Amino acid sequence: MEKTDILIIGSGLAGLFLAIKTAQKRPDLSIVIMTKSLADTGNTRYAQGGIATVTDLVNDSYEQHIQDTLSAGGGCCNEKIVRMVVQQAPDRIEELLTMGIAFDTKPSGIWDLGLEGGHSRNRILHHKDISGLEIERKLLAVIPQLPNIRLLENQLCVDLSTEKDKTDQEYCSGVFYFNKTRHRIKHIRARSIVLSTGGCGQLFKNTTNPEVATGDGVAMAYRAGAAIEQLHYIQFHPTALYEANKHPFFLLSEALRGFGAYVVDENQKRFLFKYDTRGELATRDIVSQAINSELEKTGKKHVYLDCRHLDYDAFYRHFPTITDYCRTIGLNPQEDLIPVVPAAHYQCGGITVDQHSRTTVKNLYAIGECSCTGLHGKNRLASNSLLEALVFAHQGSEHICKTIDTIAFSSLIFMNKQQSVLPDNPDSGFAALKEELQQAMTAFYTDKEAKTALNTIKQLKTTADQINSKQKITPSFIELINMLTVASLIVEQTKHSKNVTPLT
Ligand SMILES: Cc1cc2nc3c(=O)[nH]c(=O)nc-3n(C[C@H](O)[C@H](O)[C@H](O)COP(=O)(O)OP(=O)(O)OC[C@H]3O[C@@H](n4cnc5c(N)ncnc54)[C@H](O)[C@@H]3O)c2cc1C
Repeated sequence: MEKTDILIIGSGLAGLFLAIKTAQKRPDLSIVIMTKSLADTGNTRYAQGGIATVTDLVNDSYEQHIQDTLSAGGGCCNEKIVRMVVQQAPDRIEELLTMGIAFDTKPSGIWDLGLEGGHSRNRILHHKDISGLEIERKLLAVIPQLPNIRLLENQLCVDLSTEKDKTDQEYCSGVFYFNKTRHRIKHIRARSIVLSTGGCGQLFKNTTNPEVATGDGVAMAYRAGAAIEQLHYIQFHPTALYEANKHPFFLLSEALRGFGAYVVDENQKRFLFKYDTRGELATRDIVSQAINSELEKTGKKHVYLDCRHLDYDAFYRHFPTITDYCRTIGLNPQEDLIPVVPAAHYQCGGITVDQHSRTTVKNLYAIGECSCTGLHGKNRLASNSLLEALVFAHQGSEHICKTIDTIAFSSLIFMNKQQSVLPDNPDSGFAALKEELQQAMTAFYTDKEAKTALNTIKQLKTTADQINSKQKITPSFIELINMLTVASLIVEQTKHSKNVTPLT
């Protein structure tokens, strides 16, 4: 029967970093990483801007980064966690460097630090405009050097198994997963289980998140009884490149505005200063809301990013991928205005964890975007999420290494569910239900809107169950049910958001 000491679900920065650190520290432990698609298909590889870290102690300070993070979070951050993350950042970056990740430097050899909205100083370490791809590729290259890690692609984790210990406390004992090549649901036992399943941007019509971002980890943890919080704080990125009928949208990094790009209306007028004195450098929530207000007033589908006044050679050196992408769709940032629109980008809340990345279910950890650590509050400060993934992967790894020797494998062997799983059938109807869900998931300003959305979600669930009862289970059905679960949690938490108090 299958078992491993540590099971990590998800192969983005959070999962890979935890796996590598743990494997290096404890070569005696067996580690399995399962990921539902190819290893590099999560949000991590799409990160453009980089990682926020204080490296210049002359012009910047930890305190300044802490205050910027607290200010962006709108009074809903956990200050203790913010301090821990910011102060730990340089050590974690040092470790990333030893794993081969390269960040850009100036000709003089010092870091070429980027500036992004909400940051009062230049402090973003980046690798051109493909920081995430650099990190994902280099970490994936480290994995084969560690014989105690097995990375298994195309394994869709479906549910966590839980049991009761001698003191009647519920604990996580393993995971049911669907092996996409064998078409069977199987079970694997583990002593420590780590969710690093990323975000849920696919719930929304306009998003920058790839197909795999369906909120599976949050849904699985919820079904296992874990606490979930602040899920309604979904961050909309103000400048996704607008292309009709495109899903997901290509991102135009915040770093472009840090570099000097303007947001303008159809008359080529800047309008953000009407909303915030920081203009283009206000935090994402403010810029997104300002753009939405303009769009409501004008009835237009998008506003524009204006890069035409910028030094083009320097622009291309910093943003080659963005420039090249724009060119593939016939736009030249040197001459053309680029249409942009806010899009769902980041899940600020999620599975509640403590400073050791422990969820409220014993032996179950959550790290990265699927977790709610208290760092972000209402609104994540740009480039703080890769940093959070690093720090909480480290914290989780340390805790697992210290405690795993006291944890026994569950003795309960689940018979592998004989239920077989069909490959996806594009005509099954689930794709249409997903689109309906994406239409329903917008902002819920009033109780009435929230109630309507909840009714739609309930109806979609009934229809999905009806379709599923007539056929074998499929991966699309599993993901759709997870999306509907997360959607109802978002709407419910929006309804109760007036009662949300800062995390302590
Ligand atoms: C376009 C874009 C640009 C961004 N730019 C930045 C930036 O510049 N700086 C910054 O700090 N942040 C940025 N972010 C956010 C940041 O990239 C993410 O928050 C971070 O990478 C999340 O890492 P993760 O390891 O938690 O999850 P991910 O990298 O999303 O990985 C999740 C993994 O879980 C797997 N998975 C999910 N469900 C299951 C399941 N049921 N079974 C098995 N496997 C599963 C997925 O396949 C994937 O491998 C950006 C995000 C996007 C989308």
